[in-house]
Amino acid sequence: MRRTGFDQIIITGKCDALIYLLITDHGPQFVDCPDCAGMTVLETTRAIRSAHRDWNLQVAAIGPAGEHCVLFSSIVSSGNRVCGRTGMGAVMGSKNLKAIAVTGTRSVEVAEPLAFLALTEEVRNAIAGHPEYETRYALGTTQLMSGLHRLGILPTRHFQHGVCDYLDQISGEQLAKTYKVKNKACFNCNVHCSRYYVCGDVEAEGPEFETLCSFTSRIGSDDLKFALEMNYTLNQLGMDSLSTAEVIGWLMECQQRGLVRPEELDGVTLDWGDIETVRRLVDMIAHRQGIGARLADGATKFSQSFGEEAQALVMQVKGLDIICGDPRGIKAYGLTYAVASRGADHLRAEPYFELTEQTEVAEQRFGTAKAADRLAEEGKAALVTYSEKIALLTDCLTMCKNIGLCMDILNFELVAELLTAGTGMQYTATSIERAMAEATELDYELNRRFGVVPEDDTLPDRFQNEPLAEGPTKGATVDIQKMVDEYNALHRRR
Ligand code: SF4
Repeated sequence: MRRTGFDQIIITGKCDALIYLLITDHGPQFVDCPDCAGMTVLETTRAIRSAHRDWNLQVAAIGPAGEHCVLFSSIVSSGNRVCGRTGMGAVMGSKNLKAIAVTGTRSVEVAEPLAFLALTEEVRNAIAGHPEYETRYALGTTQLMSGLHRLGILPTRHFQHGVCDYLDQISGEQLAKTYKVKNKACFNCNVHCSRYYVCGDVEAEGPEFETLCSFTSRIGSDDLKFALEMNYTLNQLGMDSLSTAEVIGWLMECQQRGLVRPEELDGVTLDWGDIETVRRLVDMIAHRQGIGARLADGATKFSQSFGEEAQALVMQVKGLDIICGDPRGIKAYGLTYAVASRGADHLRAEPYFELTEQTEVAEQRFGTAKAADRLAEEGKAALVTYSEKIALLTDCLTMCKNIGLCMDILNFELVAELLTAGTGMQYTATSIERAMAEATELDYELNRRFGVVPEDDTLPDRFQNEPLAEGPTKGATVDIQKMVDEYNALHRRR
């Protein structure tokens, strides 16, 4: 997009009929696309590229789910890179905006090219020399299936368990052995952590850990092929895999406990691992058909038709469904879910550092070695406060969090040098850190204006009061209020 001469796109208003927005060197243009109605993401991408005879056109599109304003619909870039959380696809759908297509040929000015090049080379070398490089290359985020199982925190049967009996059938290693055919990379990345697979009729990129776990252990399924099918289906329908799995997993647990009867669900019975019913429900949700019309509003809203016990079983914070990481065994993640402005996911802070066991760095950076102990609550407020600034920085630089944050490649000093060389404006580590901190506070203040209250900074009751029953995290719960209080004190809030 930068090559078109534009830095940002702000879309206001709504169109009467379905359109896509085309941005080129000549500026923006709205193009009618009635034929794209009901198309999947890939069909839309191909139709737009074909209309302009340009196979390099970059297209961010919504699928049928976005058109039907499913509240957890996504926006998918060039067929398989997904902006999945918080229902941004529904925002595009509500505006009758099917896609944004971009192509540009202008050059991008760099203030000090040689200095900039040297710094980017430094970054590339730091990535290639990283101790986790090989594993990330081979398995990408799917390494977390075995990793979290080993720690006893792999969401299984909707967070009722943290270990999974049939892990070997659904692990990242198993996927790499059976269906992966090659590595793929996002634009300009030298990690190549994405994978391409062929499985029956399905050929696609991915899945990432969250989708793999969501459609295996989280819903009690041992069927790896089904998870690969769902990865493709959800990306083409344009629907967030985590929130889809939450509404389904929640219903499974509610039926297990007799809290939602089949007659309250248009006769649908949903057992653990019942992939036929899951397949049918996913399609009904995307098209808002039958009971799917209500499930399309997400687990939090749908649960309000049932009793308090059922509502408490929705694994969400501020209405956003929780990711596949049980906070009872990764306490900084728990704090992140609780305090993040948009709710229960990792992308506002991603405190992966607590899994690295780098106690010396922890001591230096956060004042206590406990910050690198996943089961400790001490030091996590400082870790999350630091991580949220780096997470925001990766977003501002449009860099991947796997690299910037999880591989610990970015820091304020490096970014100050990069931005100074790139723009010719003077940045310092302090000015950047201050800007990140101020933006985080602004985010918090906006939430307060939108009606979010301090009591919303919490976790579902299960994580606070139900200890895990087995595995390496057996007996653990989260004292979330203690960590939130510490975090607020650091941020001088309340
Ligand atoms: S940008 Fe991130 S997700 Fe994409 S290939 Fe690189 S490390 Fe993997």
